Amino acid sequence: MKNRSIYFSILFCMALIFFSSYLLFNMYQKNNHKKMINFQVQSHEARQAFVSPKYFSETITLGAIGDILIHDWVYNDAKTRTGYDFNPMLQHIKNVLQEPDLLLANQETILGGTEIGISSYPLFNSPQEVGDALLEAGIDIVSTANNHSLDKGEKGLIRSINYMDKIGLPHVGTFTTKEDQQSLVILNKNGIKIAYLSYTYGTNGIPTPKGKDYLVNLIDKQAMKEEIHRAKNAADVVVMSLHWGNEYQRFPTAEQKELAQFLTNEGIDILFGHHPHVLQPMEWMKSPNGHEALIVYSLGNFLSGQYRDYKDIGGMATIEVTKIIDEEGVKIKLNNPDFFPTYVSNQKLKNYRVVPLNDASKFGLQDAMNKYKDIQQHMLGNI
Ligand SMILES: [Zn+2]
Repeated sequence: MKNRSIYFSILFCMALIFFSSYLLFNMYQKNNHKKMINFQVQSHEARQAFVSPKYFSETITLGAIGDILIHDWVYNDAKTRTGYDFNPMLQHIKNVLQEPDLLLANQETILGGTEIGISSYPLFNSPQEVGDALLEAGIDIVSTANNHSLDKGEKGLIRSINYMDKIGLPHVGTFTTKEDQQSLVILNKNGIKIAYLSYTYGTNGIPTPKGKDYLVNLIDKQAMKEEIHRAKNAADVVVMSLHWGNEYQRFPTAEQKELAQFLTNEGIDILFGHHPHVLQPMEWMKSPNGHEALIVYSLGNFLSGQYRDYKDIGGMATIEVTKIIDEEGVKIKLNNPDFFPTYVSNQKLKNYRVVPLNDASKFGLQDAMNKYKDIQQHMLGNI
């Protein structure tokens, strides 16, 4: 009798397992079927327009930092037994750099790497590990059109581009082909498309190889106007990175102001300036038809071997971008421009560290709090 009940129990369990498996298998089949239908609906463009929301509002923060200008003191300090490590230089500022949704830096020196010889001023070539450190710290894109783009000729420029492509660091301003130069660089964040453009006033007298004008974007109003218009058609926001102005001057020239006005009139939304090695103020600029752009004339040096006279003070400019879609169409609003000052500390050309300026007394800067207040007034006084 006992054996019989065990026998029935086993039979019952087996039947239960069989039945459950059957149910599970059926559910799986149905889910698969559902997935397939969903996929078909999503890929159907006419349907997608039908299901898109009538109202959309999203805000992201865009940021930019200044020049990454790697002098010999800086790369020697980053040297390890096997290569270079720039991560410690950004470790005290990493949490700040990770705050914006998209952050741009100006990679002033090429990342040609050791194979073509690392070098400093006046013809720079930096270790490729600089790119790894930027990515690791939270930089999302670099502008590369600047006066040092051709320091190691076409070869160095292409090696630098290939390395950034290899590690997945987006870049704009220098290109390997004409087609490459003509394709817009657009980053998409939370449904907001940002087009990044980058131009430089020149390449320190080093001529562009014949027939290869596409290698570096040079400031040219007609070319810029044409690209801005294309970018406005393809993206929600147009960000212009410009290498311009006079070195070591803390205020923009009349020429910078005139070009900023021209670009605002053509429709840029934000201008991030680089090259003077010191900070130049931020301001709003308006076109005759009421379009408003944020102009940051110069972001100074972010990481470099330069020091004194404001050359070791840089920072991060940020701006909130809101995209609204309603019955009237798509609107872009810019709000809350801000600035976060930084300082490059070192001890006798060792231990280079980018640190918050308001915290720089801990790293040996005298009168850091007053310097912080001066810089905030300098950068934000006009907005
Ligand atoms: Zn420069």
